[in-house]
Amino acid sequence: MPSSEEVHKRRSAAVARGVSSVISSYVSDAGGGTLTDVDGREWIDFASGIAVTNVGNSAPRVVEAVRAQVERFTHTCFMVAPYESYVAVCEQLIELTPGSFEKRAALFNSGAEAVENAVKIARHATGRPAVIVFDHAYHGRTNLTMALTAKSMPYKHRFGPFAPEIYRVPMSYPLRDGGLSGPEAALRAIDTIEEQVGGANVAVVVIEPIQGEGGFVVPAPGFLPAIAAWAKGAGAVFVADEIQTGFCRTGSWFASEHESVEPDLVTTAKGMGGGLPIAGVVGRAELMDAVHAGGLGGTYGGNPIACAAALAAIETMRELDLNAAARGIEARMLPALERIAPEGAEVRGRGAMLAVELVKPGTIEPDSVRTVRIAKACHDAGLLVLTCGTYGNVLRFLPPLVIGERELDRGLEILAGALLHA
Ligand SMILES: *Cc1c(COP(=O)(O)O)cnc(C)c1O
Repeated sequence: MPSSEEVHKRRSAAVARGVSSVISSYVSDAGGGTLTDVDGREWIDFASGIAVTNVGNSAPRVVEAVRAQVERFTHTCFMVAPYESYVAVCEQLIELTPGSFEKRAALFNSGAEAVENAVKIARHATGRPAVIVFDHAYHGRTNLTMALTAKSMPYKHRFGPFAPEIYRVPMSYPLRDGGLSGPEAALRAIDTIEEQVGGANVAVVVIEPIQGEGGFVVPAPGFLPAIAAWAKGAGAVFVADEIQTGFCRTGSWFASEHESVEPDLVTTAKGMGGGLPIAGVVGRAELMDAVHAGGLGGTYGGNPIACAAALAAIETMRELDLNAAARGIEARMLPALERIAPEGAEVRGRGAMLAVELVKPGTIEPDSVRTVRIAKACHDAGLLVLTCGTYGNVLRFLPPLVIGERELDRGLEILAGALLHA
């Protein structure tokens, strides 16, 4: 196998610069909590390929299901010649998402595609144009989802013009909104919608129950239920974008459950496929079924190999009780993070979706320079961590839910060293 250095040299002549990587080592193998690079170096994995490998890399059931499916058939297109596993994945989405009402589901390839389809469905069902999104939101990189995403650099810079009829309102961000309660922050958002858009024009409100790229922002209690209640009253569709928070990541199947919110539609992807690309939209039957036959779909959506992987990943989540595992990771990591976080930093998150937001001493001024330095020190010491946040000052931790206590503790040790010295 060529060394990382050799591959990296070839890369700049072959791979577009716009596609960048966090580290410059190239992976040869990965498992449940570690990666090995082509130079034989082992990394502790606190990234899970951005909250994807919740069941670990190459989880045994996923490997077996994929192998068996590949041998039988690889693709027929569900819109041409359907197969049972697509139906079974939709049944799982219906069963696992909050809300005991009648539901339907549809499958796609990526998170962005799921969000686009949720908006299509909501607009079609309501006959209204406006889409409400929040400060710090991340919903993807396609044209519509770039417009839904808040942050300009790197996601939107010079990629416009963007889709119209998208309105951004203030989020509940306890560290940065002067300590508004959930209901107060909701009122602020709702007033903005009423004044600037008008409830009767709103097709859909799209929100991450805990924001991902935007900084692992956990809204104050009561914020999500108040926004959902407003949407219901206004006849607008409430969409929970659970692409990062879903599938056991926060210690429950979906993060909406922590606040007993029952979204009209849920978008899923990332953790759902055990590493294979698959996404879904699931929710109220009357919304989903409003769209005419042929109005939704795509060549690869719900590909049979991805469906086999998703069914195996979900089975693994049930069998190993990965919700309990995520809560166990929280119980082990949260106190450790509180102990090692620098003065003034905020430690937050749920389950195995935890973060430290770094600020300059005595202020809430973001310290992105130090954040980058700490992440780099972690990488140098063999711990794969990611940063996020509108201000680039949040270290985020997304270990696979099957990570061992030894790997977890070793990762925390490296992190403690980096926080102390970088
Ligand atoms: C990652 C992510 C997306 C986009 O998913 P892709 O599969 O990268 O298109 C959308 N919403 C949220 C909350 C995400 O974390």
